[in-house]
Amino acid sequence: MTGLRERRERTLGPYAPLFYDRPLELVGGDGVWLTDVAGGRYLDAYNNVPHVGHAHPRVVEAIARQAATLNLHTRYLNDRVVDYAERLLATFDAPLDRVVFTNSGSESNDLALRIAAQHTSSEGVLVSDFSYHGHTRALAAATTGLRTREGLGPHVRTLRVPDLDGADRGHDEATVLAVALDEARAAIDSLRQEGHGLSALLFDSLFSTEGLNRVPAGYVAGLAALVRGAGGLVVGDEVQSGFGRTGTAFWGYQNHGVVPDLVTMGKPMGNGHPVGGVALSAALLDEFGPRNMYFNTFGGNPVSAAAGLAVLDVLRDEDLVERARATGVVVRRGLERLVAAHERLGPVKGTGLFFGVEILDRPRNDPRARPDPASTRRVVEALRARHVLVSRIGREDSVLKMRPPMPFGPREAELLLDELAEILDARPFGRCPLRSGA
Ligand code: PMP
Repeated sequence: MTGLRERRERTLGPYAPLFYDRPLELVGGDGVWLTDVAGGRYLDAYNNVPHVGHAHPRVVEAIARQAATLNLHTRYLNDRVVDYAERLLATFDAPLDRVVFTNSGSESNDLALRIAAQHTSSEGVLVSDFSYHGHTRALAAATTGLRTREGLGPHVRTLRVPDLDGADRGHDEATVLAVALDEARAAIDSLRQEGHGLSALLFDSLFSTEGLNRVPAGYVAGLAALVRGAGGLVVGDEVQSGFGRTGTAFWGYQNHGVVPDLVTMGKPMGNGHPVGGVALSAALLDEFGPRNMYFNTFGGNPVSAAAGLAVLDVLRDEDLVERARATGVVVRRGLERLVAAHERLGPVKGTGLFFGVEILDRPRNDPRARPDPASTRRVVEALRARHVLVSRIGREDSVLKMRPPMPFGPREAELLLDELAEILDARPFGRCPLRSGA
């Protein structure tokens, strides 16, 4: 154990998670590269918080300049804050024309649930059965992807999110859709019968924690129609999928042809500076505002607004959403080549700059094939040893997770793919080698 790790455990306790068997001590970042304390360089194929790249000079300068001018709480008029609200709202679809700023994704989702409860006079919440939406008490009671003391609240019902590239592979898409929507109907009925009513559906439009599920066409729209039919609101959690991550749209919900009633934001919004927000319609805010004093000391302060504005500027000026789409095509093609060569890899999942590939314990065509988290873990560690950073997601932690900063380009994509290919070729994982026929 290094001295720093010991000191960390003695102060932060042993429960604050760290990546890797040999945790990294990083001291610098630029673009899609990170530098460790020994001067080693790492290709970052994991981090989405530094959305427009580590230490992007325009974001750094905007933060520094505003911090050197004025930063304080949010109860004074400030043109930068209003400029940011206007610029951000211009990216949304009607009727989302108001934004409430917060400091994190958790705060945003917590507030969205409060607004939904106010609107519906109900508490019932629908979430997926393997999801993460934040760390407040209300969200801990609605979180299914992590262990919490609260456990699921009596007002929460969970839905199994279908996956045409996972558990539902090979099944008829229309049938998978019908079964999933029946399950949602039953969950809404059960909330009604037990007196909770329906307040909100809370979902991540990329189903990232779930493992980047490929849902049947019309699934999210179908869920939204059921929820609205029962008087509930639709909350789109764009903490992972927002700000162009999918390459095909600025907001993940746009890929599903649904405009949520509330959209929650966090992680990439300030490129590492803590800022979040909830976008909603004036009508909804006008219901909530007069009955609830909502004051957020730090949420959307002038420095946060400067960071957020700079992120929007860089996304536009460097055409990063299109770049994510184009690089995503390169990554997908490369991963598909790897899948063709290695029969223990599942189908390629994801879009834009968020990809997943599941590792299985047997050839994928063997009906007994199961997720193999131990092998996935070994690949993540082997990539780290080769200075490429990725992670794992999914119910079984068996899906390799690749989600780099947005400037990740074709050259970096080839680097990632080459390293991954060498690892998969070189090492026999578990009971059978990854390479078909090897
Ligand atoms: N929603 C989603 C989909 C997330 O992935 C996360 C964080 N991983 C959150 C909400 C919570 O955001 P924060 O950690 O900023 O509170």
